[in-house]
Amino acid sequence: MKIAIAGISNESCSFSPLLSGDDEFMLVRGQELLDRCSFLTDASGMDVIPLIWARATPGGTVKRVTYEAIKQEMLQGLTDAMPIDGLYLDMHGALFVEGLEDAEGDWLQAIREIVGTACVISASYDLHGNVSQPVVDQLNLLTAYRTAPHVDVEETRSRAGRLLLDALQTGKTTHIQYKRVPVVLPGEMTATTWEPGTSLYNQIPFIIDEYDLVDASILIGYAWADEPRTSASIITIGHDESKTKEAVCYLASEYWNARHQFQFGAPADTIHACIEKAITASHKPVFISDSGDNITGGGVGDLTCMLKALLDAKVRKTLHVAIVDREAVTACISAGIDANITLTIGGKLDTIHGNPLTIQAVVKKIMAVEPNNYHVVVQVAGVTLILTEKRTAFTTLDQFNTLGLMLKDFDIVAIKLGYLFPELAEIAGTELLALSPGVIDQDLTTLDYQRITRPIYPLDPNMTWTPDHD
Ligand SMILES: [Zn+2]
Repeated sequence: MKIAIAGISNESCSFSPLLSGDDEFMLVRGQELLDRCSFLTDASGMDVIPLIWARATPGGTVKRVTYEAIKQEMLQGLTDAMPIDGLYLDMHGALFVEGLEDAEGDWLQAIREIVGTACVISASYDLHGNVSQPVVDQLNLLTAYRTAPHVDVEETRSRAGRLLLDALQTGKTTHIQYKRVPVVLPGEMTATTWEPGTSLYNQIPFIIDEYDLVDASILIGYAWADEPRTSASIITIGHDESKTKEAVCYLASEYWNARHQFQFGAPADTIHACIEKAITASHKPVFISDSGDNITGGGVGDLTCMLKALLDAKVRKTLHVAIVDREAVTACISAGIDANITLTIGGKLDTIHGNPLTIQAVVKKIMAVEPNNYHVVVQVAGVTLILTEKRTAFTTLDQFNTLGLMLKDFDIVAIKLGYLFPELAEIAGTELLALSPGVIDQDLTTLDYQRITRPIYPLDPNMTWTPDHD
């Protein structure tokens, strides 16, 4: 038997003024792609053909020309590899492409036209993916992360691979059921490390047992994309069609019934209130998430409102992570270590929410962390500030260690994230969520939705719904 591997993975914020082009995408092909999928190559004894896997940091709308080039390369590889028995797709599920509605639906329909109806297609998704009926119509198998923050990425990819191999080796057909749940909520309210996310996701293995399923997924969806499919959804897969339908309705109603219980995982307040609390907090370091400019959610990353507020409050021993500004980084590199330099930073990419800020900075560290992405550490009064050339999410301790920064040395760490990733949460003495402005505004009622399917909670807070109605 022969199987192929492909995928495109991006979380695209349609409210962002940025466009993601060729420079933003990392392309993986050949042996490197096979190595990423050892769960398929190690044990299966099948002929495995690597096509292309494309991934970009969460950002704005993907340029049509970039998407089409990746798609065409994938389709050409697929055509050359035919006939194939199975296909594994490594996806995210929140791809938004210029001039396209439901980009994953477009991607999958083009694939199905080539591989035919007999080929088994299995996809792994981020639980922040927005699924649609056209997507499910082309897929045989879909499984999504069961943790947010995501600590089961590899486990999920392996599970999608195992589902594919089981289907091919046993020849048993499965039914896939999809149920859109008309709820759209921020990831910062729906993590699985606190309730009701914990209990909802902990049910999954029991539901699989109880309804004799092959797999089940709860997808929260991605709020900052204005498309009809933007919403939560449930997927169940099983051999028995009626049990699979019962299970999808059960999980959909569980999610719907929990909608009022979702809440932020850390005390949420204005930027100024968070800084006041941080100054007087007894458990340090205090992490303040600059949530409106959260890069892992697609934020632009060059807003200066948090930095300005920190400087106005005359904070000490504070780290601000990180403002993207290529010009400022270039100026710091030219000036050199220990130079005292005047910089006007930020507010260049997001001109709606952003204001450039002029600062007097001393250059402390210059580091090339990857091609075209120097990071610079500067000291601005009591604030140690990281500047980056490319939009960079800081989620691991290694990224700080590389720059010679020890988070425990700071009283306040203001960071362009939403919820904290596990290594950072472990260091944090106190966590606060600043409801800052930006394209990832946590108050979804402020977003100018035009295309999302209505009614949907919480935009239509009094709506009624049951899973049986669809
Ligand atoms: Zn995610």
